[in-house]
Amino acid sequence: MYTAFLIKYAEIGVKGKNRYLFEDALCKQIRIALNRCEGEFTVPKTDGRIFVYAKTEFDYDEVIDALTSVFGIFEICPMEEMEVVPVEEIGPEVVKYVDRQYKDKNFTFKVNTRRARKSYPGTSMEINAELGGYLLDAYEGLKVDVHDPEVVINVEIREKIYIYSTKIPGLGGMPLGTNGKAMLLLSGGIDSPVAGYMVSKRGVKLDAVYFHAPPYTSERAKEKVVDLAREIAKYTGPINLHVINFTDIQLYIYEKCPHDELTIIMRRYMMMIAENIAKRSECYGLITGESLGQVASQTIQSLSVTNEVCTLPVFRPLIGFDKQDIISISEKIGTYETSILPFEDCCTIFVAKHPVTKPNLNVIKKHEENLKENIDELLKKAYETDEVITVQYQK
Ligand code: ATP
Ligand code: MG
Repeated sequence: MYTAFLIKYAEIGVKGKNRYLFEDALCKQIRIALNRCEGEFTVPKTDGRIFVYAKTEFDYDEVIDALTSVFGIFEICPMEEMEVVPVEEIGPEVVKYVDRQYKDKNFTFKVNTRRARKSYPGTSMEINAELGGYLLDAYEGLKVDVHDPEVVINVEIREKIYIYSTKIPGLGGMPLGTNGKAMLLLSGGIDSPVAGYMVSKRGVKLDAVYFHAPPYTSERAKEKVVDLAREIAKYTGPINLHVINFTDIQLYIYEKCPHDELTIIMRRYMMMIAENIAKRSECYGLITGESLGQVASQTIQSLSVTNEVCTLPVFRPLIGFDKQDIISISEKIGTYETSILPFEDCCTIFVAKHPVTKPNLNVIKKHEENLKENIDELLKKAYETDEVITVQYQK
């Protein structure tokens, strides 16, 4: 049974002088993820590698689940380690390693040595050959295949010697907190949780805002959004979810504006409110789940009219994705089942039969003039309804 893991990171390896900031952020996120596991762990870093050591009993699957939810990890390698010794002493250890880890010793293999410690005698090729010899002598069922082996025995010679042969893919991306914070417009649908996940994967922390329209949208619809926030918090860390009561604004738009423009005007007000909350919360961008052409409000003309109210950058990571691609990601990250629960995120009375698909900004602005009398007051009231729910991942 393994008690240590070698953590490889990809992209943060190339960050030059600031590399240590990324490494420290990654160690911190790994510690946070391990906090939800049974047992005690240490997470030291040394020359280009991060390690996880279990100091007590732990549940292997639980630890892998935690590590595979941390952005910035390329691979997780359960490993065994030993002090730096001459190659004749590594050989028997590699033999014991294979004995411990492989019940059935019938497979093709190669040894892959990495000499990060340049003072260590011999070339990698020579060490590979020598260690391979020990294994062939010890187990009859093993055969060398350097091109397509079933098992690669990795031996890294650094401050210590690390032996591993299992590589579990990590999520990739950048460690959380290395890229500021953004405000996710989170609805109960399939798309917006995936959009939040994707931006967060680049190291961005999230806050979120949900526009609630009681009694047209139910309490269950709100709970569903809280659940979705909790599910993505597994990856993104805790989220401050702002719930804004949008009913009066929606009714007012319904009363005063042409019904085929309802959605687009409503979306402009959502973006405006989200941006204001974002600026107050030190968020440097907005995130939506929009995808080009998916519905009337997501044509290129509609997006440009919606975008016009914002000064912050609006991130739309799903813009070029087909629905099926988005569904695949939502299944992978675990939000799909919640997203498809049947609680409407918007009452059908607010959805026009034939919404405009090519809105004209000047026309929209002209019709928004109809709202002049009360809209400022309604916006003020809407901000007052802001209920902040801090949402954390729970297993
Ligand atoms: P989703 O699956 O994310 O609900 P959708 O395909 O249903 O998206 P729309 O309803 O047009 O598309 O919404 C587009 C985007 O606007 C959403 O992805 C989300 O970012 C945001 N949004 C829509 N409704 C709300 C809401 N009630 N509260 C917060 N954000 C919303
Ligand atoms: Mg929706």
